Amino acid sequence: MSTANATRPIVDEPAPQPARWGREELARLAAMVEQPSLFYWKGPQTTALLAEFQRHYPLKYCFPCSSGTASLHIAIGALKLRPGDEVIVSPITDMGSVIGILFQQGVPVFADLDPRSYNLDPADVRRRITARTRAIMAVHLAGNPCDLTALSAIAREHRIALVEDCAQSWGAKHRGTPVGLVGDFGCYSFNDFKHIACGDGGIVATNSEHHGPGLAKWGDKAYDRVTGSRAPDELAPNYRISEPQSAVAAAQLTKLDDIVARRNHAGGFLASLLQSTPGVLAPQVNTGDTHSYWFFMARLELARFKASRTEIAAALQAEGVAVGGGYIPTPVYRYPVFQNHNFFGGAWPVRDFGVTNMDYRSVSCPVAEAILDDCLTFRLNEAMSDSYLEKVARAVGTVARRLGR
Ligand SMILES: *Cc1c(COP(=O)(O)O)cnc(C)c1O
Repeated sequence: MSTANATRPIVDEPAPQPARWGREELARLAAMVEQPSLFYWKGPQTTALLAEFQRHYPLKYCFPCSSGTASLHIAIGALKLRPGDEVIVSPITDMGSVIGILFQQGVPVFADLDPRSYNLDPADVRRRITARTRAIMAVHLAGNPCDLTALSAIAREHRIALVEDCAQSWGAKHRGTPVGLVGDFGCYSFNDFKHIACGDGGIVATNSEHHGPGLAKWGDKAYDRVTGSRAPDELAPNYRISEPQSAVAAAQLTKLDDIVARRNHAGGFLASLLQSTPGVLAPQVNTGDTHSYWFFMARLELARFKASRTEIAAALQAEGVAVGGGYIPTPVYRYPVFQNHNFFGGAWPVRDFGVTNMDYRSVSCPVAEAILDDCLTFRLNEAMSDSYLEKVARAVGTVARRLGR
């Protein structure tokens, strides 16, 4: 191994970290402790959260909830799947995308990805549509908007829903429109790791007059808080948010434009700097779209290197770069829970009773697998200056030259 970094790494400072919470959060929490109740319904903090959310995402029906997973489960619940109904989804995502589908006895159908945006390939989505398909779930990976124009055309053509998983894409835009507004549902996460966060929380929203009015009930045990009636007409979980979470989330959303402008600049700047590095491919953003760069995922053309992805990542880390080799370990369908169809105590009723013949052991999405085999995930945040990112790019260039063929 080279000892080029024995003296001083090229990135000679720790990765900058933004201050995540400040006086905005403190002011809301201080007001909150004067309240007689911390319940979400008509709570001042949750009311403020709704107003702040709708300022960015003008959607008529919104339900703040306990997590991104909950927001997606509520959207799927609102679609009222029949057992065995199918939802087409990306294989590179968080478990939260598929948990709700499976709990509703639906069948996640994995479609392959575009090799440069890492998002659903509309042509492959089209190939996976069957008579049982009820929805497409578009995951805007890392904050890069999916091709929503193509996906919404497919959804309209087949009269199926488009659910947008915006958990990683606060502030991202498709041709100027915020993600979550093109599809039938926008689903968002405030978990601690996202760039707009409150510890844990989420929000689901729609403009649909068909699905909208029942949305809140579906995240609140099918109780009707508007009429006060308690006569549940279907099975629905408790996915309520509470005032402490809403207070922090409302404060966070006031900073959304600033945070995303900085991230978008940083990500675009790093992508432009990496253009001159052979063997390293920056993510591709569709024309007119705004990537919010929750993280920065690049791919390596491994044939151009004499080292493995692991060795390249280690060399970058030795040069002080905040980078990891890979993202999730395998596509979601390769996780043991899918390979063993172990969804309900070792059973999967819809398969065991012949309602679906889905077998995850034979699912294959070659592009998704290739992406996970050769990608690098760079940490990126709104505190990273141009001069810091120039050091990162210089380190990547140096390592690429040293380990290149
Ligand atoms: C984080 C995430 C979720 C789940 O959000 P939680 O708030 O952790 O439940 C869902 N989908 C994607 C793509 C995510 O990144």
